[in-house]
Amino acid sequence: MTNPTALVLFSGGQDSTVCLAWALERFDHVETVGFDYGQRHASELAARPRLLAGLRNAFPSWAQKLGPDHLLPLDAIKAIGGSALTESMTIAMGKDGLPNTFVPGRNVLFLTAAAALGYRRNIGDLVGGMCETDFSGYPDCRDETIQATAKALSLGLAREVRIHTPLMWIDKAATWRLGEQLGGKALTDLVLEESVTCYEGDRSHRHGWGYGCGQCPSCMLRADGYARFIAA
Ligand code: ZN
Repeated sequence: MTNPTALVLFSGGQDSTVCLAWALERFDHVETVGFDYGQRHASELAARPRLLAGLRNAFPSWAQKLGPDHLLPLDAIKAIGGSALTESMTIAMGKDGLPNTFVPGRNVLFLTAAAALGYRRNIGDLVGGMCETDFSGYPDCRDETIQATAKALSLGLAREVRIHTPLMWIDKAATWRLGEQLGGKALTDLVLEESVTCYEGDRSHRHGWGYGCGQCPSCMLRADGYARFIAA
């Protein structure tokens, strides 16, 4: 490893927060990047600084490793449109067999932007929360997509890009467990209280598993995973 620094794709959700903890356990330095792509609800982006502050407070050894946070605008996603994440439409199944929360190629775009930022900052290790287990059928969450993207970026930048996806083969219950293994109850509590996973960006309803509308597919996955996590 030439530069023991990782760049974590950090959205402010549960998955990327656990990925950030994972990276802080493994790398000497960790930077974070988020993307403002015209999400209908700003609460996920608003969660990012709260989570970073919470991590710094609760984990002094991680605080020493945690470097700059970057926020990149990717307005093209909203301009292209057609997704319930950027437009006011009811979350439903689309004709393509995917939920209309799908943003075509979003992870490929995010990873490309992250790799470009990493190039400038001399960081070749990217960490993302893509997961093939609970992936709602999103084709850009598949391991094959991610590994092919790493190869394309390595070629396109003429510098090796490694993409780490610690959640790829685990389900939501196991994501809660991984968080607990990495940061104990303090991390579980931080994720519960501050991370935003809800597609509606709901921060007004507090459930045992955290805040959310409780109705959208993302809330249902989170609730189900948490129930299985505490039952185990
Ligand atoms: Zn929800």
